[in-house]
Amino acid sequence: MVGGIYKSKVKYTLVLGIVAIAVVFACIFYINNVRSAIEADNLVYFDEIAFEAANSISMKLNELFTSVKNYTYRFAGFDAISEEEQMRILVQTANASAFSDLRYINLEGGALSAYHGHAFLNRRDYFQYAIQEGKANISSIIVDEYTNTRVNIFAVPVYTGGELTGVLTGVYDTEALIEAIYSETLGGIASSYIMNLEGAIVLRPNVDILGFDPGISFFDDITPTTDTASAILRNIAVEGSQGVFNFDFDEEHYAASYKSVGFNEWVIITVICSSDILAFSDNVLTMSTTFTMVFMLIVLGGWLFGGFKYWISKNRFFDAVSERDSLKYVDTLTGGPSFEKFLADVRNAFDNSADDEASTYAMISVDINKFRTVNDHLGYEEGGRILIKLAALIQAGLNEDEFYSRRSADSFCILIKYTSDVDIFGRIETFINDTYYQIEEYKLILSFGVYKIDDMTMDIRSIIDRADLARKTIKGGNESSSAFFDENMLVKIREEKRIENIMEYALESNEFKVYLQPKYNLTDHSQIIGAEALVRWFRDGKMIPPGGFIPIFERNGFITKIDKFVFEEVCKQQKLWMNRNYEMKTISVNMSRMNLQEPDFVRELYEICNKYNVPTKYFEIEITESVAFENLDILTRVFNELKNYGFHISIDDFGTGYSSLNMLKNLPVDVLKIDRSFLSDTHNERANNIIHHVINLAMSLQMKTICEGIETIEQVNLLSDLKCDMAQGFYFARPMPIEEYEKQLYSDALAVN
Ligand code: C2E
Ligand code: MG
Ligand code: MG
Repeated sequence: MVGGIYKSKVKYTLVLGIVAIAVVFACIFYINNVRSAIEADNLVYFDEIAFEAANSISMKLNELFTSVKNYTYRFAGFDAISEEEQMRILVQTANASAFSDLRYINLEGGALSAYHGHAFLNRRDYFQYAIQEGKANISSIIVDEYTNTRVNIFAVPVYTGGELTGVLTGVYDTEALIEAIYSETLGGIASSYIMNLEGAIVLRPNVDILGFDPGISFFDDITPTTDTASAILRNIAVEGSQGVFNFDFDEEHYAASYKSVGFNEWVIITVICSSDILAFSDNVLTMSTTFTMVFMLIVLGGWLFGGFKYWISKNRFFDAVSERDSLKYVDTLTGGPSFEKFLADVRNAFDNSADDEASTYAMISVDINKFRTVNDHLGYEEGGRILIKLAALIQAGLNEDEFYSRRSADSFCILIKYTSDVDIFGRIETFINDTYYQIEEYKLILSFGVYKIDDMTMDIRSIIDRADLARKTIKGGNESSSAFFDENMLVKIREEKRIENIMEYALESNEFKVYLQPKYNLTDHSQIIGAEALVRWFRDGKMIPPGGFIPIFERNGFITKIDKFVFEEVCKQQKLWMNRNYEMKTISVNMSRMNLQEPDFVRELYEICNKYNVPTKYFEIEITESVAFENLDILTRVFNELKNYGFHISIDDFGTGYSSLNMLKNLPVDVLKIDRSFLSDTHNERANNIIHHVINLAMSLQMKTICEGIETIEQVNLLSDLKCDMAQGFYFARPMPIEEYEKQLYSDALAVN
């Protein structure tokens, strides 16, 4: 058992470990998944934001361009007007514009500034590009010739009559331009660069997360991680194209979004550090991660806690089981082996025996007859001590590979090994003698049922059942005795089953009939003083005697239905006779002890009487003596109840049980029915003395006596001499159908009617 617990601990710890690791991995896997899902999501989000940022930048640049373009119509034919006029237009336009200066450059490169006079700008790229390509463009950052500051020039060709005549430029202070076009992208964690196709940064924001040196190609410094540089360049080169790519720079991962500005073949590239991508929804991720971790921890904790509790309870359970197991194997009263242990030991012995050993085993079922009377006489404690002694005696008589156990209150079963029937008898005899001499407090009468085992594969309980069956065939006597099982007993069992199957139907279909056996006054033999109702079962034209079914009904409880049926039949009959004004006689009805267990038993009898309106005094309730004193408390209550309702009470088969008249004196008994076994031999002095004694005592207790089973005139005479009050027996009349009884009892009345 301890090894089992240890193993289970190791197993449990192992499983615990594996699950914990699995949970941690699941956690990591989950968080990673969430992380990459968020990353992917955020990348899309970033792309959208970057696109918006690029749009906003290009829109602002284009707005500036558009304003310059919108001014160009004023400068058509600009070369032909006076310088004064030129200045007026320039200044006026410049003042209204967002630019720090407006300049008109003629095709030779001669420039006129709104605020700074003349200059020669022939070599400027923006100028060359504008007049050669005829396209508006913006310069990179240049140091202005006029102001010596960093500026960007928006250059737009001027047409006069469809012919390119000059270039109008708007000067924008670079710092101001940066200020104007860049709004904070993504809270400052992303930077948008305006680059040319070579990757040179044209304009960089104030928040420059990469910190390139101007003039060095962006594409030379980065390591594309998803696309090659050329592919990115190719894409970027396509006017109006846009997209995203990843790259590494300075040992960091970045994501970039690009979009063409719409002029100069420039692109806006918005860059963000990958680790910062997550930062947008840092909260989401943190919350999600925290939630996941907490959830996992709770689950793991709960699991560990549950497991721990289970483990504890399991150990407790094991402790309890081992404690219970040890209790299970011990009979708490005698300290000997329990029935469970017996079953296990026998099964084990059989399993370890060779097949041909079967015929050496016998099961013995032992029962103490009327053990209740032992308790009644000596008390429960003494009764218990006797059982302990008996167990010790059985134990002492066992050989190797033999087992015993107490099975219920006063019954034991023993497995012995034997060589012959004589051997078995010998062992039983020895045991009876040992009991006789060593348990002196009470003369125990024991019944032994023996089943010689021929098939060790048989269920042990079935084996014991057979030994029980044999034991139950022993009719109560005053000496210990034994019986061996034989197959006929099984036939009887089957018959019993058959009867059980048909009894209900038989009652419903009136197969049971009530017979009446007259009772006579011994002083006047010809006078019927009443009768006893005895049930008869007619089936398929044959009568089954009560001995064939009453014991079975008593075992299965159906007897209470039969008793009520008989009682009601008698009641109906009495009612009939009452209605006819016949002289009423008391009729006795047998009531099995089973009825005593039913709390409403007496009341129900009374209600039947009420239903037919028959006084209770016309009934006598017979209760057999053997049963009567098993539970004196109940019996006293029932008898008093019966008496209160007005029923007569008789003790049937008196003399077969172990009651004493002394016990009877406190009970409201009207009649003692002396059992016919006392009449077996009228010449037996001792028996006659007992009858005499019983009759005298009954008289002194104001009880009447009736002797049943009177068959001869000698018996009649003897009982008359002994002053027995009444008689019943074949000598006078057998039990008979009611009609016949009616004829005998009421012949005179019938004749009159
Ligand atoms: P019991 O109550 O002692 O009934 C008397 C038995 O003795 C009856 O047997 C009766 O036929 C028989 N008997 C009467 N006179 C003589 C005689 O001179 N010689 C011999 N040898 N026998 C005589 P029965 O009718 O076979 O009933 C047997 C037992 O069955 C009854 O013994 C009673 O205990 C039980 N029994 C019968 N009917 C009922 C019933 O309706 N309910 C209950 N609970 N038990 C019943
Ligand atoms: Mg009777
Ligand atoms: Mg009787």
